[in-house]
Amino acid sequence: MSADRAAELAASLAEVEQRLVEACVAAGRAREEVLLLAVTKTWPLSDVLLLRDLGLQAFGENRDQEAAGKARELPGVHWHFVGQVQTNKAASVAAYASVVHALDRPSLAQALSRGAAKAGRTVEVLVQVRLDDADGRGGAAPDDVPALADLAAGLPGLRLAGVMAVAPLGQDPAPAFARLHDVAARLRADHPDAADVSAGMSGDLEQAVAAGATIVRIGTALLGRRSPPAR
Ligand SMILES: *Cc1c(COP(=O)(O)O)cnc(C)c1O
Repeated sequence: MSADRAAELAASLAEVEQRLVEACVAAGRAREEVLLLAVTKTWPLSDVLLLRDLGLQAFGENRDQEAAGKARELPGVHWHFVGQVQTNKAASVAAYASVVHALDRPSLAQALSRGAAKAGRTVEVLVQVRLDDADGRGGAAPDDVPALADLAAGLPGLRLAGVMAVAPLGQDPAPAFARLHDVAARLRADHPDAADVSAGMSGDLEQAVAAGATIVRIGTALLGRRSPPAR
C-alpha cells in the first residue's frame, strides 16, 4: 500500500517537475527560481512524509486544525498556510507557519504579528491580491496593496515577502497573472526584499511561471483529486 503510494507520488512529482522545467525554459528562467509548494490539505501526514523523502521541503495547508496537527507531528519542514485566516486563528497559525500566503486585511496583519511575537517567531507574509472584482476568492484590491504591505513591513514578528493570488475562475489566467506581475513590481519598488510571487496551481502553473511566479502551489497534480469537500 505505502510502497504503491510512494511510487505513485514519485511518478506524479516527476511529471510536475517536468512541467516546471519546461515552463522555466520557455520563460528563460532558472528552475531554482521557483519553489514547488506541495499543497497537502486533506491528505494524510504519511503522504507528506513520502514527499519529503522525495526531496520536497515545503507543504501548504488551508485549515488551521489540520495544519497545526501536521506541524506538531512534523516540525522540521516549512509549513505554508495558503487559505484564508480567520482572525481568531491567527495566533495559532503564527505559531507554526513559515509563510502565510493570504494576508488580505490590516486586522489580520496585526493579529499575526501579535501571535508571532508571542511565539518568538518571524512569519513571512504574502499580500493576497484580488485579480478580479467579480471574483469572490478574496484578497486585497490592487490599490489597497501598498498600504497593507507598508503596515506588514513595519510590524514585529512579520517579514513582508511578496504577493500571492489565485487566478479568477473560468477565465484565461494569463492576463490575471500579468496584473499580479504589475502589482508585484510596484511592491518591490517600495520593498526590494519582498520579491516572492505565489501564483499557479495544478491547472495553470505554466502561465504563472511565465508571469514571474516564484512559488507554485500544487495539490491535485501531485497528490491526486481531493475527496469531497474539494477545497
Ligand atoms: C488547494 C489550493 C491549491 C492547490 O490547488 P490544486 O488545483 O489542487 O493544485 C493552491 N492554492 C490554494 C490557495 C489552495 O487552496
